[in-house]
Amino acid sequence: MNLENNSGLLDKIKNITPALTTKFSAIGINTYWDLLLHIPIRYEDLTKVYNITDVKVGSVAQIEGEILSAAVINKRTKQLQVQITDGNEIITLIFFHFYPNYASQYQIGKKIRAFGEVKAGFGMMGKSIIHPKVQSVTYTPNLSNTFSPIYGTTNGLKQNQIVKLVEEALLLLDQIDILPDNLIANLPKISKALLTLHKLTPKEFNTEAHNEALTRLKMDELIAQQLILYKAYELKHKNESTVLKPRATYTRMLLDSLPYKLTPEQTKVLGEIYADIAKPTQMNRLLQGDVGSGKTIVATMAMLVAVENGYQAAIMAPTEILAQQHYTKTKQLLQAIGIEVVWLSGSLTTKQKKMVYNDIKTGVAKIIIGTHAIFQKDVEFNNLALIAVDEQHRFGVEQRLSLQAKGINPHQLMMSATPIPRTLAMSYYADLDISTIDKLPPGRTPIKTVLINSGRRLEVIKFVAEMCSKNSQVYWVCPLIEESENLDLQNAINTFNELQDGLNGYRVGLVHGKLKPTEKSSVMKEFSDGKIQVLVATTVIEVGVDVPNASIMVIEHSERMGLSQLHQLRGRVGRGSIDSQCILLYQGPLGEIAKRRLKVIYENNDGFVIANEDLAIRGPGELLGQKQSGLPALRFANLDTDLPLLKEAKEFAKIIATKYPDIAKEFISLWFNSSEHFLMV
Ligand code: ADP
Ligand code: MG
Repeated sequence: MNLENNSGLLDKIKNITPALTTKFSAIGINTYWDLLLHIPIRYEDLTKVYNITDVKVGSVAQIEGEILSAAVINKRTKQLQVQITDGNEIITLIFFHFYPNYASQYQIGKKIRAFGEVKAGFGMMGKSIIHPKVQSVTYTPNLSNTFSPIYGTTNGLKQNQIVKLVEEALLLLDQIDILPDNLIANLPKISKALLTLHKLTPKEFNTEAHNEALTRLKMDELIAQQLILYKAYELKHKNESTVLKPRATYTRMLLDSLPYKLTPEQTKVLGEIYADIAKPTQMNRLLQGDVGSGKTIVATMAMLVAVENGYQAAIMAPTEILAQQHYTKTKQLLQAIGIEVVWLSGSLTTKQKKMVYNDIKTGVAKIIIGTHAIFQKDVEFNNLALIAVDEQHRFGVEQRLSLQAKGINPHQLMMSATPIPRTLAMSYYADLDISTIDKLPPGRTPIKTVLINSGRRLEVIKFVAEMCSKNSQVYWVCPLIEESENLDLQNAINTFNELQDGLNGYRVGLVHGKLKPTEKSSVMKEFSDGKIQVLVATTVIEVGVDVPNASIMVIEHSERMGLSQLHQLRGRVGRGSIDSQCILLYQGPLGEIAKRRLKVIYENNDGFVIANEDLAIRGPGELLGQKQSGLPALRFANLDTDLPLLKEAKEFAKIIATKYPDIAKEFISLWFNSSEHFLMV
């Protein structure tokens, strides 16, 4: 990247000792640009001196006066009290932490300034300030005309050390206006904005100017992020890949063998995928659709296009359970039409793996299904042309990276059941093309949702027993309660024991994150085979699992869970034609937000509506999570409140990327100098 123009800013900070360098590095400051972006967390107004009489209790102010007395007082705790007066009123400065020689420094008659929050005095005392900032005024120092910035810091790094370096960085401000001047005409230039923020004047404080400076900073950050996404989009879409055209052989056979017809929605997204893979460049498409919207069959069709062109295709799922299910179902579907499907996961024995590796290498295996084990370095494909990634947000960035690191550019189809409102998705996944299924296939029986106070737990157990006697199957989910896997597990085990006692005669199973993959799969298999009637689970079952005979979902502590997660869990039932119920147990009393959230889940069945509500209540930051995006964290802009800004930033980024590619490069390197690897994702 071309760093010529801003090398001064990206240069390591000069004039700084190695010890200080370490301390600055610890708070993420390595360059002058980092310093400029280290904007004050607050300001202190040392621009004025107030009359003691004029300052109100509770306000933060600077006063000035002559010392009347200084004495160490032995009250409940030892304290140094210094009384000063400006001729009209007396104020007491109180210090709880002080060195013995402090008292002698406050000589009677000396003039000092003190800054801090003014409190009502104790006992007979008038106003007081606890631990004020004090400076002596024997030489009458000038008052500053800007606020004093207070910077975020860590142990060992002093305010004045930061202030000194920031002053130095501010000398380089004329180098940072690299975006075209006329582009963002309604906001101040970034140099002006940063100057305002570091050197705020009393006149600007909390005014439009202050606000606009902040907005400009956020805008530039969002533009930088959008530019990265554009860049990623460009890079990805430049990759050469295999031209795949539907030949209506295997795809036709599969369609003919299905007990249902694809919905218009499914046909539409399939058309979008077909158009992508018919091009000689790599497809990077996100297929989003609510739980149960039928994404799997769409992905299977796309994979078959690869196969009918003589290539291999793979589908990767985030958990062993889910991958196993894909395997079982896909195998059933495809064996009938003579296609070799293989299963690959970490739980295979070395010998089994060897055989599978061999089949993959020779091309005997046409469709490969598994966990991320598919992309271990030992796996060599014969001619992989398409890879589908289910529940893509569950995979870490590194795992997605390893797809590219293989040196092959298969078409990529990402799938997600966490529907993200369209505007947000378009901005947030700007590196992907998006296809959306927004209606479920017909013939689903709606799930009845009930909210029950956990005080009525015994009644719920009784109801479950009754349903078991009618041959229904039940999920009982104990979600994450503490941020501790052990407590979480204990909670599930307790419930398991309780249900075993309470449901005498019916088989209860337990599945949780600590089980080995094979153990998990075997419990799940017993459940899907109907050998277990009640499955107690931690949230491991959240994604994708499909057991049509399961018609009851009980979720404990629903008040603590995210709406989208609840919706996903609820989507585990209602898969067959039986009437299904979701029982949300909650622990009262509920706060306002919890009530509002549960009301949303109670009243709505559409994942997009729920996601929108979730967005309104929690904001997109929570909804998306940083992990899912794989992007550098936003420091200034906040997706919860700055969504309109994001839309504007997207427009600006588009202009910059297309009209000023050199500036785009420079701007990205300025903002994300240390995070260029994100471009590779
Ligand atoms: P998800 O989008 O959550 O992955 P699935 O692909 O697992 O959903 O589909 C859910 C269920 O819907 C499956 O049992 C599948 O066979 C069924 N299904 C998919 N498409 C249709 C359709 N067009 N008509 C009826 N049922 C369908
Ligand atoms: Mg699925």
